[in-house]
Amino acid sequence: MARERIAVIGAGLMGHGIAQVFAVAGHDVAVHDAQAGALDGLRSRIAANLDNLDLPRGPEERVTGFADVAECVADAAIVIEAAPEKLALKQAIFADLVRYAPRHAILASNTSVIPITDIAGDLDTADRILGTHWWNPPFLVPLVEVVGTARTAPQNIEAMIALLTSVGKTPVHVRKDVAGFVGNRLQHALWREAIAIVAEGIADARTVDTVVKASFGRRLAVLGPIENADLVGTDLTLDIHAVVLQHLNRAAEPSPYLRALVEDGRLGMKSGEGFRTWTDEEADTLRKDVYRYLKNFRLP
Ligand code: NAD
Repeated sequence: MARERIAVIGAGLMGHGIAQVFAVAGHDVAVHDAQAGALDGLRSRIAANLDNLDLPRGPEERVTGFADVAECVADAAIVIEAAPEKLALKQAIFADLVRYAPRHAILASNTSVIPITDIAGDLDTADRILGTHWWNPPFLVPLVEVVGTARTAPQNIEAMIALLTSVGKTPVHVRKDVAGFVGNRLQHALWREAIAIVAEGIADARTVDTVVKASFGRRLAVLGPIENADLVGTDLTLDIHAVVLQHLNRAAEPSPYLRALVEDGRLGMKSGEGFRTWTDEEADTLRKDVYRYLKNFRLP
C-alpha cells in the first residue's frame, strides 16, 4: 500500500500512540492539538515508547505537530480524530475536517462509545466519515473496530480496513453504528455486573477481580465468548441462561454506587482511592504489569 499522509487530531494518550503506529509503518503523520504543550512533547513521548518496546528510534521524526488544524489536514489522505469524548467537541472538529481536508480524505473518529452518525450530524460528504475505535495502548493492542454509518461509502470502509491491516492492526467491521460498538458493549456489560456484585455485597472489589483474572480471564485471549458457548454446547449455555440471566443487573443508568464514589472524590488510582485504595507504588506496579503482559503477549 502506498505511504499515505496521515493526520491525527489530538496528541493525548490515544492520538500520540496512533501517530506512532503509522510512523513506525513508514507513513508521514501530521498531528494537531488544541494545546501547544501536547505537541511539544510529542516526538519525545513516541521515542520513549519505542525505547520501551525495544524498537529502533527514527519513526518519531516522521511525526510533525501543527498548532493549526487546517494546515495539519491540508494534504491528508486519512484523518483520525482522537480528541476528548465530548459529542459537541467532536462535531465541531468534524465540521473543520470536512472544510479543510481534501475531498478524497477519509475522516475517522476514535470515539469510544458515541455513534458515528451523531458525530457526522448533517455534515456534507458524510460518505467519508467513519469510526476507527482503537484500544489503549494503540501500539500494543491489535484490534481496531471500523464502524460505518448508513451514509459511509463501503469503499471507504474497505480502504480503512486495508490500511489498518497494512500497518499490522487487526481491524474488524462493525456492521451497525450502535453506541459502544462491539468491544465496549461487551466490556461494560461485564463492568456493570462487577459493580453490582460489589454494591450488593456479594463479594468485595478485590475478590471480583481475582475471580475474573484467575478464571475466564485467563482463557479470553484464546477463547471468545461465542467460541466458549460452542465449546461447552449451546444446550448447556441455554440451561445456564435459563437460571442466571434473570438475576443479572439490567440497570439502564450508571450504578448509584459508582455515582457516590465520584461525588466523594474517590476517582480511582489518580486520587488514591476508588473501589479500592491505591498507593502510588501499587498503581505503578499494576500499570507496569499490564504493559509488560501486553508487550510479551504471544498466541500459542
Ligand atoms: P486525552 O485527554 O489523553 O487526549 C485528548 C487530546 O485532545 C488532548 O491532548 C487535548 O489537548 C486534545 N484536544 C482537546 N480539544 C481539542 C481540539 N478541539 N482539537 C484538537 N485537540 C484537542 O484523551 P484520550 O484518552 O487520548 O482519548 C481520546 C479519544 O479516544 C476519546 O474519544 C476517547 O474516548 C477515545 N479512546 C480512549 C481510549 C483510552 O483508553 N484512553 C481508548 C479508546 C478510545
